[in-house]
Amino acid sequence: MGRIVLQKVSKKFGEIEVIPPLDLTIEDGEFAVFVGPSGCGKSTLLRLIAGLEDNTSGDIIIDGNTVTQVPPSKRGLAMVFQSYALYPHMTVRKNIGFPLRMEKMDQAEIDAKVNTAATSLNLTDYLDRKPGQLSGGQRQRVAIGRAIVREPLAFLFDEPLSNLDAALRVGMRMEILELHNKLKTTMIYVTHDQVEAMTMADKIVVLQAGVIEQVGSPLELYRAPRNLFVAGFIGSPK
Ligand code: ADP
Ligand code: MG
Repeated sequence: MGRIVLQKVSKKFGEIEVIPPLDLTIEDGEFAVFVGPSGCGKSTLLRLIAGLEDNTSGDIIIDGNTVTQVPPSKRGLAMVFQSYALYPHMTVRKNIGFPLRMEKMDQAEIDAKVNTAATSLNLTDYLDRKPGQLSGGQRQRVAIGRAIVREPLAFLFDEPLSNLDAALRVGMRMEILELHNKLKTTMIYVTHDQVEAMTMADKIVVLQAGVIEQVGSPLELYRAPRNLFVAGFIGSPK
């Protein structure tokens, strides 16, 4: 299903190679976190997987298919951004159903899928509100709901909680993990926050200047950081 393989994938912007060729596999159902300092290439890597940027070289393989030439909307992935990108004039119900209306799905089917998504996100009481009448956390849940209704092979999150205050972030982390437990869908989560990475990930991918410094479970990285950068970044005692 949602197995994502990168083979010698690189990205240049003009003459500048922001991601030298790298290999990476995200297993089906895994919760993977890309972590690293600002500017290290996390968003670029996610956008390459999503197809929002073209890779300069290499292959991206999703669910066994090479998707290099496949447009974003046909890759079976759903991206959740830090800016909520909700339509202010539409109700929550309309916002969540929006991608399905674009696909011309019939209304009864849309309603059923919106209701299922709203239930799994505890949004059923808010379906008739507009985004302006919601808290930051609720708005973020609506954005996630809009991803869920498409039943993607994988969810790609780019720093989805960075607009929320600290207390709300903790709660939203739990909600995203709960969603992962329910859906068992592959998730890739980008953050510059070490704590978020260490508490959420099955697999952490540590990036520095476009290079993967280490891939492993939080415990593996904590116990055996490969170098001083990883040790320093994740706060290992070494
Ligand atoms: P992160 O998400 O880890 O903060 P980004 O992936 O946004 O990092 O950026 C990685 C590097 O690529 C940075 O040096 C950034 O300036 C550069 N970059 C990102 N997008 C573009 C673009 N569209 N054109 C030129 N350079 C870019
Ligand atoms: Mg970024």
